[in-house]
Amino acid sequence: MPTLTQEPMTYGILAWEGLALLSNAGIANAAQEARWLLERALQTTGLRLRVESDRPVSEEHRNLAWSLLTRRVAGEPLQYLLGTQEFCGLEFEVGPAVLIPRPETELLVGEVREIAGREAAPLVADIGTGSGCIAVALACAMPNAQVYATDRSAEALAVARRNGGRHGVMERVRFLEGDLLAPLAGLGLEGQLAAVVSNPPYIPADDLPGLQREVRREPRAALDGGPDGLAFYRRLLREAKPYLAPGGTMVLEVGQGQAESVCRMAEESGGYGLCGVRRDGADIERVVCLQNDEC
Ligand code: GLN
Repeated sequence: MPTLTQEPMTYGILAWEGLALLSNAGIANAAQEARWLLERALQTTGLRLRVESDRPVSEEHRNLAWSLLTRRVAGEPLQYLLGTQEFCGLEFEVGPAVLIPRPETELLVGEVREIAGREAAPLVADIGTGSGCIAVALACAMPNAQVYATDRSAEALAVARRNGGRHGVMERVRFLEGDLLAPLAGLGLEGQLAAVVSNPPYIPADDLPGLQREVRREPRAALDGGPDGLAFYRRLLREAKPYLAPGGTMVLEVGQGQAESVCRMAEESGGYGLCGVRRDGADIERVVCLQNDEC
């Protein structure tokens, strides 16, 4: 590990050292990541880092910058260090208690909007809300919707609630602690939901050790889909059915190669009709939409 250059430290030197540190460590987007981490540590902009390269850096800022850079080199995800991730055009707080929202998950929000957006006052549930990204993005996009968001992790829900507050939707999103749909019991929602949406953990347990080191820093409970990666789909299909309105839709994110199995499971479980499989930007079948076939 290179040591910190001695005084006087400036924006320019720190920017150069940060870039060198990350690129020597083999970080793919070293230049961009170094800039973002320095912007965060020094509370400045990329433009000022460049044009004010002679500006002195206080010891406190320098230590903070160095600590973020070295944590990144040690494998912490960039988003945990920055503390935020954008999703559906909104900024979400993230940290080690929650999965970092992924761009492909935005497809789920688009599907639910299409399905439920036409209704006057749709009721929607996001199961395994994590950072709350899906639930909060839906509430923002559908001003008449009421959203129920569950998670079994109290730590994740604390983050999700802050995200609800950040985007001003706390009156329309109820964050509930518990396993999958269990927290919805007793709320009188049976047969009422226009859509149940979920991005459940779907990585087969044996694949977890081989994941990218950054992904291994994300909560195991947010990733581990059991022996075949499909454990949560089985439960979601069974447990969501009583809550769906006649013709209501289940919108599920799936892992690569899982769409066919999930469609087959839905068919076998009975009570669902397939309304579509959507592909993501990498042309991977990513979203399965199933309709409650009771009308
Ligand atoms: N719903 C959250 C997301 O899509 C968390 C999902 C999870 O933890 N598996 O990002």
